Amino acid sequence: MLAWIGVALLVAAGGLAIRWMSARTDALGRPRPFPYIAVVVLVALGCASLAPFVLRVRLERRLASATSELLGTSAEVRCQSFGGAFVDVGADLGYVVFGPDGTPEQWTLIKRDQCADLSDYLRSGKQEPTRDQIVAVHVLTHEAIHMSGVQNEAQAECMAMQRDAAMAEHLGASPEAAGELAIAYWREVYPWMPAAYRSEECAPGEALDAGRSDAPWVLATG
Ligand SMILES: [Zn+2]
Repeated sequence: MLAWIGVALLVAAGGLAIRWMSARTDALGRPRPFPYIAVVVLVALGCASLAPFVLRVRLERRLASATSELLGTSAEVRCQSFGGAFVDVGADLGYVVFGPDGTPEQWTLIKRDQCADLSDYLRSGKQEPTRDQIVAVHVLTHEAIHMSGVQNEAQAECMAMQRDAAMAEHLGASPEAAGELAIAYWREVYPWMPAAYRSEECAPGEALDAGRSDAPWVLATG
């Protein structure tokens, strides 16, 4: 919505300039001054209105590229807009839509706050992520796992936890910092997740252990 206002303001600025060019003199033949103030104000307001949209698209591309690398297939990431956040009452921090046959769509929506946390994380040195940033990176991994076809929450959560380090690396963290992020989620966030997101099988050597060398329980002992 704001983006359209921005476009309209820029179009209005262009309209003023064109109108000036088409009639540079008034009825008496005197040169008409260029409407500098109006054009500058319209351009400035137009750019300011468009900025959040441009930044969101850039962030979505960056997150989609990391997600696609993790999955080995192309996936789209959409960040919730301001308007979407305003009418949103859901508790989930992101979601993937599954078709009636159980096939996931290859795009995910990440909530506004988590996208902001991911943006902060990307701009940071990634050495000391905040708890919110750790959760946001994990939410992106969790939704990526849904896009790979896993619908069950406990299973998706466990598979995601074992790929958080990989995701953090795709987002630009060093292997060490990425490993610490994955360990932090496993130790400090996972135990307090709702029951539907947890499983006894999500532990070293249990059924949901994918045997990865970058699983948090492997990295924690290394
Ligand atoms: Zn989920």
